[in-house]
Amino acid sequence: MSGIYIHIPFCKKACHYCNFHFSTQTKYINEYTSSLLIEIELQKKYLNGKIETLYFGGGTPSLLSTEAIQTIYHKIKDSFDLSNNLEFTLEANPDDLTASQAQDWLNIGVNRLSIGIQSFQPHSLAWMNRAHSVQQSHQAILNAKKAGFTNMSVDLIYGTPQLSDHDLAEDLEILLSYDIPHISCYALTVEEKTVLYSKIQNKHLQDVDAAQQAKQFEYIMQILANAGWEHYEISNFSKPNCRSKHNSNYWNGVPYLGLGPAAHSFNIHSRQWNVANNQLYFQSIKNNSVPFEMETLDTITQFNEYMMISLRQMEGFSFTKIKNEFGEKYETHVKLIAEPLAKNKQLQKTAMGYTLSKEAKFLADGIASNFFWSKDQ
Ligand code: SF4
Repeated sequence: MSGIYIHIPFCKKACHYCNFHFSTQTKYINEYTSSLLIEIELQKKYLNGKIETLYFGGGTPSLLSTEAIQTIYHKIKDSFDLSNNLEFTLEANPDDLTASQAQDWLNIGVNRLSIGIQSFQPHSLAWMNRAHSVQQSHQAILNAKKAGFTNMSVDLIYGTPQLSDHDLAEDLEILLSYDIPHISCYALTVEEKTVLYSKIQNKHLQDVDAAQQAKQFEYIMQILANAGWEHYEISNFSKPNCRSKHNSNYWNGVPYLGLGPAAHSFNIHSRQWNVANNQLYFQSIKNNSVPFEMETLDTITQFNEYMMISLRQMEGFSFTKIKNEFGEKYETHVKLIAEPLAKNKQLQKTAMGYTLSKEAKFLADGIASNFFWSKDQ
C-alpha cells in the first residue's frame, strides 16, 4: 500500500501568507510537464505494491490543462500498479473550477476535489491576496457538485487579524449548508520570507493574536462536533467515513513517492526531497537525474515523528505500537511523561494509549515535544 504525490509548482499570483514552493512563471508549464513525465520513468521503482492514492497538489494543479493532467495520469497508470479503488485527488482553486473543467477532471478519473476557498469574506480574500472572488467560490462548489463530485474537501483559514468571530461563524454556516464531507481548517501562521512576514515586521499589518486563534479554533471544533463531524486530525474534520485517505496514510507511516520540484518522498527508512527550484529541476531531469537530498531516519527520529504525528490525530498514540516498534525503554519513557499530562487534563485515555484532550488540541506541537527522545538520553 502506498501513495503518489505530484507537486504542481505554479500559481497565478502569490498569496501573501504562502511559503509553499511555487512560481508565477506559468510559461514553463509545458517544460514542467515534459520533465515530470521523465521523472516518473526515473522513479518508477521507488514504491512496491498497490498505489492506493494519487494526489495532485501544489501550487495550483487546476492551472494545468486537461490534456496535461490526462497525460500525467496515463504515465502514472502505465508505470505503477494502481488500486481499483484509487483515491485520486486534485487541488483546485475556485477561479479555475468551471463546470466544463469539473466534468473533464471527472472524466479523466479524478474522484476527489480539494478546493482552496480559504474564506467567504471579500475583505479576507483581499487581505490574503487570493486570486479568486467570493462569488467564484460559491460557483466552484456548485460546478463541482453539478458535475457529480461527491467526495470534496474545502480549505479554510482562520485566525487572521481581520477575520471577526462573526465572519468565521458565517464561513462555517455557508460550508455546512453546501453539505461538503471534509473541511481542512488552518490557523494562519506567519512564515519567514513571505509578504505577510515583512508587512508585519514593518508594522504595516497587525500581527496574529494567538489567544484569538485559539478561541476561533475552539469555536470551529464546537460547531463541527455539534454537526456530527469527526475531528480526526488537528486541522482536518470530516463526516464519518469521509477522511482523506491520502493524508491519513502520510500520518500513519505509509510510504509515498513525491514527484515534481520540492516534492517529498518517504519509504519508512528514509525521506528525500526534490530541489525546490523549477529551473534546477528541469536542468537535472534533462540529464536523467532526479535532483534530491535525502536523510536516513534513525530510531530516535522515527520515534519523535511518531509522537508528534500520532498526537495530532484523533486516535492518539498506542503503547503496543511504541513497544513493538521502538522497544520497552521508549514505552516506559512515554508512560512516565503521559501520566502527569493526563492528570493535568492535557491528555485523555484511549483504548490503546492517550490522545490530546479537547482543551489541549491547540497546543499539540508543544505537548508532543515533552515526549521527544534526545540523542543524549
Ligand atoms: S494558491 Fe496556494 S500555493 Fe499558490 S500562492 Fe496561494 S496558497 Fe500558495
